[in-house]
Amino acid sequence: MKALVYERSVPKYAAAKLAALWSSATAARVGPLHLADIDEPQLPGEGWRRVRPRLAGICGSDLATIDGTSSRYFEPIVSFPFVPGHEVVGELDDGTRVVVEPVLKCATRGTACAQCSAGRTNLCERIAFGHLSPGLQTGFCADTGGGWGTTLVAHDSQLHRVPDDLSDEAAVMVEPTACAVHAARFVTTDDVAVIGAGTLGLCTVAALRGRRVVVAAKHPEQRAFARELGARVVAPGELDRAVRTATSSFVAGGQLTGGVPTVVDCVGSEASLAQALNIVAPGGTIVLVGMPGRLTVDLTSLWHREVGLVGAYAYTADDFGTAFDLVRSARLDRLVSALYPLERFREAVDHAAAAGSRGAVKIAFDLRKEKRR
Ligand SMILES: [Zn+2]
Ligand SMILES: [Zn+2]
Repeated sequence: MKALVYERSVPKYAAAKLAALWSSATAARVGPLHLADIDEPQLPGEGWRRVRPRLAGICGSDLATIDGTSSRYFEPIVSFPFVPGHEVVGELDDGTRVVVEPVLKCATRGTACAQCSAGRTNLCERIAFGHLSPGLQTGFCADTGGGWGTTLVAHDSQLHRVPDDLSDEAAVMVEPTACAVHAARFVTTDDVAVIGAGTLGLCTVAALRGRRVVVAAKHPEQRAFARELGARVVAPGELDRAVRTATSSFVAGGQLTGGVPTVVDCVGSEASLAQALNIVAPGGTIVLVGMPGRLTVDLTSLWHREVGLVGAYAYTADDFGTAFDLVRSARLDRLVSALYPLERFREAVDHAAAAGSRGAVKIAFDLRKEKRR
C-alpha cells in the first residue's frame, strides 16, 4: 500500500531539526518522512477492522514530529517506523464511514488500568504495553498504520460511525474538535481568553460559545472565523491590550495587575505560555492545550499570583460524541482549507506550517482517489 512513513533515523532527525530553523518544507524534504510502498498492517486480533482513510488532517503535533522539534518525552511511547495521521475519516470494508478515535488505550491492547476503568482513556497508563507496540495514538504506532496511508487498522472501541448527512470535510474535523471540547471542560469561568487562532484555537472558541471569549488573531481570515464562531472580542494580534481594556487592569512590566480568570493556551510555545502568565488573573487558571516541549518560562508570577497550570490532552469517547454535534452546529467543515494527494506531501506540510499567513486553517490529505491493493 502507499503511505507516508516516518522512520527513526538519528542523522535525518538531526538534519530535520536544523532545517526546521528555516522552514517546515525544508524539514520535510530532508527529514525522516518519505512516500513508500509498504505492506498493509495486519489485524492485531479480535475486534479489529481495516479502515481505508478518505481524508486525514495534518496536526501541529505532526509538524513538530516532522520538524524534529517534538520532545524526546515521546520516544518510549511511539514505535518506528510509523505512518502518521491521527485526524482520520475513513471507511470500513463494508463501506461504513467512520472517524477514528486515535488513543491506543487499554481496550485496544488487551490490558486494564485504573484510568481506563474510570473512563479517562486519554490518561491510559498502558500506552507502551500489551499486545501492540508502544504508541500513544494511531499515527504514532508501528502496528496500526495511520491516516497518511491507504490502509490502517483500528479497534472497534476506536470507531465512531459518521452520520450520512455529515461530509468527509466535517468528519475530519471531529478529532481536533474533540480536543477543544475536552479543553473547554476545564473552563469554569464566564470570562476566558484563548491564545492561538489556528485549528485548535478556533475549535476552542466554538466549544466555548456562550462565554465571554477574548481571542487574538494575526490574520484577517482567522479574525473572521473567530467572530463567526462566537468570540466576544477579537483582537488584531495584541491579546494583552484587549484583556487589559476588558478587565480595567493596570500594567506593571509586561504583567497585567488583573486579568482573565481562565486562559486557554492553544499554542504551547514559550511565547504563548509567557503571554498566558501575563494576562491571567491572580488565582486564575491556564489550560495548556497546545503541545509544548522543553520550554524556558519565568514562573515567578505563577507562584506569586497563585495561578494554576493544567494540561488538557486529547479526549474521551464522550468528548468525541460532543464533537460530532459541535462540528455540525458550528459548521466546522469550513475550516478545511485545502486538500492534497499523498504525492504532494511536501507542499501539504509547507501549507500546513504556514496556514495562518496563507489564509488557511486545516490542511488535509485526500486519499479518496488512491488505488487500493
Ligand atoms: Zn492532533
Ligand atoms: Zn488504560
